[in-house]
Amino acid sequence: MGPGALIRAATRALRVAASLAAAALLPLPFTGAPAQGAAAAAEVRFCVDPDWPPFEVINRNGMHEGIGADLLKLASTRAGLPMALHPTRDWDGSLAASQEGLCDLLSFLNQTPKREEWLVFTEPLFVDPNVIITREDHPFIPDLAGESDKVIALPSGTAIEERVRRDFPGLRVVTTGSEAEAFAMVSNREADLTIRSLTVAVYTIKKEGWFNLKVSGQIPGYENTLRIGVRKERADLRDRLNAAIATITPQERSQIANRHVSINVQTAMDYELVRNLSIGFLVVLLSNLAWAIKLHKTNVQLRRMSQTDRLTGLRNRAALDDLMMTEIGRAARHGRTFAIILLDLDHFKTINDKLGHLVGDRVLVSFAGLLRENTRQIDAVGRWGGEEFLILCPETDGRQAHLLAERVCGAVRSHDFKTGGRHTVSAGVAELRDGESLDSLLQRADAALYRAKHGGRDRACGDGGASLSLVEGVTAGPPAA
Ligand code: GH3
Ligand code: MG
Ligand code: MG
Repeated sequence: MGPGALIRAATRALRVAASLAAAALLPLPFTGAPAQGAAAAAEVRFCVDPDWPPFEVINRNGMHEGIGADLLKLASTRAGLPMALHPTRDWDGSLAASQEGLCDLLSFLNQTPKREEWLVFTEPLFVDPNVIITREDHPFIPDLAGESDKVIALPSGTAIEERVRRDFPGLRVVTTGSEAEAFAMVSNREADLTIRSLTVAVYTIKKEGWFNLKVSGQIPGYENTLRIGVRKERADLRDRLNAAIATITPQERSQIANRHVSINVQTAMDYELVRNLSIGFLVVLLSNLAWAIKLHKTNVQLRRMSQTDRLTGLRNRAALDDLMMTEIGRAARHGRTFAIILLDLDHFKTINDKLGHLVGDRVLVSFAGLLRENTRQIDAVGRWGGEEFLILCPETDGRQAHLLAERVCGAVRSHDFKTGGRHTVSAGVAELRDGESLDSLLQRADAALYRAKHGGRDRACGDGGASLSLVEGVTAGPPAA
């Protein structure tokens, strides 16, 4: 990290410290009182996870608090529902109480097939990605399926536990009583990894100072989409809550989230500040500086992951989309042009069928290498999906791009992929036209690729290029998948 970035991190840390101090002065929001005797009869009883900070906890005074608690409070108030907490010792206790009908609602949870047996779910209150947490020395995890016979620590009864057992049977699951215990096991080498929500991970690593832990990967599609679970026979409550949830704005959501991550961290430092302002301030500053750096690294890592194709390490489709949109904006402003080349490996399915998927994967990786070697520094290469790739050529017209595409075809033709045979690729080239949309440009590149395929493959076709698609007997429409 350079000095500029350090200063930015320090400034941010100062801002965080200031907001922490401000947050400490605010009264804690009301968070729902425990149910009491007969008076509770008309109230909607709800169960919670008593130990899931910063999402929700039952605090020392028996109050429900946290991000989920505030969101539930907001939704139930707007729905006009009086609420009463049915406290339990742990999450398993809450699941059991809900199944037995001791409470009508579960406050804040993922929807899973198992839970659908007795619950219906509201629209999401909060969405949060899940990340893989390991010790600092663990390499990046591109695919959790590759981590068989590793020990994974997970709080018991959670949606993640349910899904990991189903999706990754190779992992050895050790269940823990709490979130903190799962982190502790990884930190103390009793487990290799855990999977946590990003919000919980950020909060816990910071609060407990577990700086030997890091985010090592993300599991696509594994998001916490947190909803209120309603016992099936009370579906009327779900409808009323849904109407209320629809009124919660993104600003309200993020305000609530920020407040909790701030307030809870503050409590650990409050007395220090009162006793000795200057030392206290330094503590806050230093820990937040360390945190800001850590968070910055995490963010950079997550951003890179979200833009990279896992198999080949090239840009993924999302990254290419972003780049092309940027180029279109630049072309419009400065009257510049650019071209794209869409490439599709020929008869790739045969490689998979004859030699297996792993060999297919290896060919894709080698092909990605060839693309890197045969393109210019200014070109952006990425995987468009499956066995299709895309090269974005800035400041390049269709003719130049066509030459580049032919060079790639030639390189593939003469390359030994170590499969016992030769392979080829087809390419479609299109240069951006004045005022053209991305969709239209892509369609033209796709049409050119289609012509290359139907003209006999192993070639590049340009935009208005030789229309070889009218070979007799070839019917219009996409090639058979
Ligand atoms: P054509 O010459 O017309 O392009 O024929 P093709 O066989 O290359 O095209 P088709 O679209 O029929 O098949 C593409 C295949 O690519 C099908 C799919 O299973 C395979 N594929 C897609 N992604 C991957 C991957 O990540 N790894 C492997 N091994 N195969 C993949
Ligand atoms: Mg294809
Ligand atoms: Mg193909």
